[in-house]
Amino acid sequence: NYALMPGSYLFAEVGRRVSAFQAAHPEKKILKLGIGDVTRPLPKVCIEALHKATDEMADPATFQGYPPAQGYDFLINAIKEYEYDARGAKVEADEIFISDGAKSDTANIQELFSGDAVVAVPDPVYPVYVDSNAMSGRAGIYENERWSKLVYLPCVAENGFMPEPPKEKVDLIYLCFPNNPTGAMLTRDQLKVWVDYARENGCLLLYDAAYRQYITREDAPRSIYEIEGAREVAVEFCSFSKTAGFTGVRCSWTVVPKSLKVQDAAGNPVSLNDMWSRRQSTKYNGTAYIIQRAAAAIYTPEGQKQVRENVGYYMENAKIIRETLVELGVEASGGVDAPYIWLKCPKGMDSWSFFDYLLSGAGVVGTPGAGFGPSGEGYFRLTAFGSREVTLEATQRIRELLGK
Ligand code: PLP
Repeated sequence: NYALMPGSYLFAEVGRRVSAFQAAHPEKKILKLGIGDVTRPLPKVCIEALHKATDEMADPATFQGYPPAQGYDFLINAIKEYEYDARGAKVEADEIFISDGAKSDTANIQELFSGDAVVAVPDPVYPVYVDSNAMSGRAGIYENERWSKLVYLPCVAENGFMPEPPKEKVDLIYLCFPNNPTGAMLTRDQLKVWVDYARENGCLLLYDAAYRQYITREDAPRSIYEIEGAREVAVEFCSFSKTAGFTGVRCSWTVVPKSLKVQDAAGNPVSLNDMWSRRQSTKYNGTAYIIQRAAAAIYTPEGQKQVRENVGYYMENAKIIRETLVELGVEASGGVDAPYIWLKCPKGMDSWSFFDYLLSGAGVVGTPGAGFGPSGEGYFRLTAFGSREVTLEATQRIRELLGK
């Protein structure tokens, strides 16, 4: 299966082109608005918790060895209270699994399903969903930028970058809101359509909410469990990476409701919660104590304030980028409920031509939309995760280049 996979072309090719440009123009300062990584340090509450927990590890009375397989109660209960109870979404403590990243869990979940399960993915998409299924042989053959067995759900300007439910029968549907790469977010009513569809058609929704702290619109759901019926059809993945700057620290959680039943080969109902619990306790030995303590520190009034400041900082960058593009007459969306701005490449350029144009003309690096799937061709992603200085300088250079 691995041999069938194309190389990880996107970021390798971005890196190659940036290095070549820098070698040719050593004096030029390159500004990166392509990365999906955060640049702000951890909130102060997390640093304090890390120090305290580290000291506990030095004392035989408080030392911690292997963590509980599903996570420490102090973190699970805090997540339940702040992320679900507070929003009226029903999630029980034993449905929350602490992990080391939404990447691992969104990549690993597919192992629970049979090799011939039919998988639908939005297009463009966070590549992990596609690649993890390809590695398990569920995606078929890669030809003309497409996997033969995957069902692609195009997210294009005509549908407001909202995938539409598949016409054919599928088993698993990945959804990601707020979306990477398009920055799109749906309303409760729009998400209800998916939940109803999954219930009526016997499929499972794999809902990636890694960016949910970036939602600003009131009518947008922070969790799929705000939608009636979701507990029977949806798994939800969340992360501390983009909320609290944990990209290098690693902590996340996945919710697998106990009411969620899938079918075994004989058509008998099986609890997905039991299966995931079995999988995690066999293959994962838990997220470090000190890391879980650091994550739990955001669930205090002061922690929440610091997280809001962090997210607010990036969202101000998003506003600066979005408004610059609008002012220049570039078609752009996202950046309101997500740290990503998705723009249509101006002057009819394709994604890679615009990448080169922006790099050579402004020294600014973004991510070609084509790298996220066939429907991303002709689009380009900019991120709000840079520093304010980089964002301001980059938008000024973009203004000079595109305003000509
Ligand atoms: N899900 C989406 C949609 C992402 O864009 C990312 C990271 O860029 C992740 C998950 C990974 O999150 P984590 O750092 O928790 O592994």
